[in-house]
Amino acid sequence: MTKQKKCKYCGNQFTPYNSLQKNCFHDLCVKEMIKEKELKKWKAKKAKLKKDLMTASDWLKIAQQTFNKFIRERDKGQLCISCKQKPKKVNAGHFWSAGGHSNVRFNEDNVHVQCEYCNTFKSGNLLNYQIGIEKRIGGERLLKLHELAHVTKKWTIEELKEINTVYKEKIKKLKNI
Ligand SMILES: [Zn+2]
Ligand SMILES: [Zn+2]
Repeated sequence: MTKQKKCKYCGNQFTPYNSLQKNCFHDLCVKEMIKEKELKKWKAKKAKLKKDLMTASDWLKIAQQTFNKFIRERDKGQLCISCKQKPKKVNAGHFWSAGGHSNVRFNEDNVHVQCEYCNTFKSGNLLNYQIGIEKRIGGERLLKLHELAHVTKKWTIEELKEINTVYKEKIKKLKNI
C-alpha cells in the first residue's frame, strides 16, 4: 500500500512507515533528522525565553504596531482624516496622542488613517482632525472619547498580549473579506 518516497537528506527512495516520515533509515539520515529536531526545539525554547524576558514597554510597542496595522487595514482607501487628501504614505494617526493619553491609545474611535504629512510634519494637524473625526464618529462618541482620554491607564503585559492577539485576529478577518 505504502508508496515509496524520496529521503529528504540523501535523496534515495525508501518505504515510509507513515506519511510523516521524511527520511530513510540510514544512520546519517537518522542523525540528520535528530539534529534538525533538536535545533527546532532549541529555537522554540529560545523564542519562548525571549518572549518571557519582554517588558511591558516591549509589549506596548508590539501591541501598538498591531493595532495601528488594523487601523490602516480598516480605513483602507479612505482619505486623510485631517487634510482629505489621498495619503501618499498611510499612517494610523491618534487624535488624543498615544503617549499622553494611554487609556485611548487602543481605542478604535481615537485612531484613523492619516497622511504622513499631517501625522508627522503637522503634528497630527489636530484642528482639521477634530473636524474630520466629528464627521466620522459623531459628536456623542467624540465626547465619550474626550472623557476616556483623560482617564489614567497603565497597561499590564497580560492586557497588551491580549490586545496584540485580538487585533491580529481582526486584521486576518478584514483581509479575508
Ligand atoms: Zn536518506
Ligand atoms: Zn493629511
